[in-house]
Amino acid sequence: NASAKPPPEPSPLRKAKFFQANMRILVTGGAGFIGSHLVDRLMQNEKNEVIVVDNYFTGSKDNLKQWMGHPRFELIRHDVTEPLLIEVDQIYHLACPASPIFYKYNPVKTIKTNVIGTLNMLGLAKRVGARILLTSTSEVYGDPLIHPQDESYWGNVNPIGVRSCYDEGKRVAETLMFDYHRQHGIEIRIARIFNTYGPRMNIDDGRVVSNFIAQAIRDEPLTVQLPGTQTRSFCYVSDMVDGLIRLMEGDNTGPINIGNPGEFTMLELAENVKELINPEVQIITVENTPDDPRQRKPVITKAKSLLGWEPTIKLRDGIPLMEDDFRGRLGISRKK
Ligand code: NAD
Ligand code: UDP
Ligand code: UDP
Repeated sequence: NASAKPPPEPSPLRKAKFFQANMRILVTGGAGFIGSHLVDRLMQNEKNEVIVVDNYFTGSKDNLKQWMGHPRFELIRHDVTEPLLIEVDQIYHLACPASPIFYKYNPVKTIKTNVIGTLNMLGLAKRVGARILLTSTSEVYGDPLIHPQDESYWGNVNPIGVRSCYDEGKRVAETLMFDYHRQHGIEIRIARIFNTYGPRMNIDDGRVVSNFIAQAIRDEPLTVQLPGTQTRSFCYVSDMVDGLIRLMEGDNTGPINIGNPGEFTMLELAENVKELINPEVQIITVENTPDDPRQRKPVITKAKSLLGWEPTIKLRDGIPLMEDDFRGRLGISRKK
């Protein structure tokens, strides 16, 4: 067809990017637990340049020590509640404390991180035309009245409780993502992450898997918070990172649940940890905190069909992998 126009010339910027064949990826919260595993995976691709932005509230440079000085890696101390001017192609926006004791420690800061932090990252995405992925949470379902939870459920969240800075903060962050998408055409991805565990979790961050494993290693009683029949579904961190990358690279905005549908009561979790790590250890019950969700389990039909993703590591296989890391950091080896 002689009248067909030749394809447009790539812009000088695209040409330069093509020539370098690089994807410049920002990971906010990249010094944290999930973020640092995500960085490890992204750095394995030689075409990626990774920039981490973190204020080290709950994260640590130690989690990234293997990449310090690497020519494709950069670490910036920065708080996402302040504007950030850099040039990137993709943004994985994870910055936010995830453990209840840390997000309740300074609730006003938690909500600022979720709201102003996400607004800033969306402003950045808009300015540079980057795709942005938000790590939202199963906490947007609150204390759910349907079980298991699929993405169409709007949730049962207390707006004025002690967990609200996190739950409602993430709900506003999701709203902001969709408003920037509809109003400004920003390419967005939203992952609703269910409880995730694995190496590099903060040893004393109060989350249940890290608590039980540290307690079992230290010969301290496992503290099951009452009633002990509340359930959670635990996803190993390598599975989580795989799901996040598939979501970013795929075509669907989400929200998509990413989690392991294997559901356990806290008593069952304690019994598994006891059996696998320290059969002599005691299991005790202690007081719970307000607004603790009674049950939680993801429906992952969307992740399976849209991302071709499902978790591969069972809880009983993940616990020993985490035990090795915790023993190393606590300096307590296995009993003979
Ligand atoms: P984490 O606390 O280990 O990591 C969060 C990181 O964000 C830390 O490095 C922290 O220093 C950084 N950070 C916090 N506030 C910041 C700010 N204002 N500016 C810059 N950096 C800041 O937590 P994680 O478990 O790795 O969680 C990562 C993300 O996944 C969070 O958005 C969390 O809400 C989400 N998520 C986690 C889980 C889970 O079970 N781990 C479950 C649901 C959702
Ligand atoms: N922003 C940022 N980096 C950028 C562009 C914007 O941190 O590269 C911040 C900016 O400071 C603002 C927020 O993102 O607070 C939202 O930006 P947007 O342009 O959408 O809104 P406006 O600046 O018009 O309020
Ligand atoms: N939990 C527990 N013992 C602990 C810490 C937590 O039984 O030492 C319980 C807690 O009551 C909750 C569940 O474990 O029902 C998960 O708590 P976590 O703080 O790990 O995560 P989230 O509540 O955010 O799902």
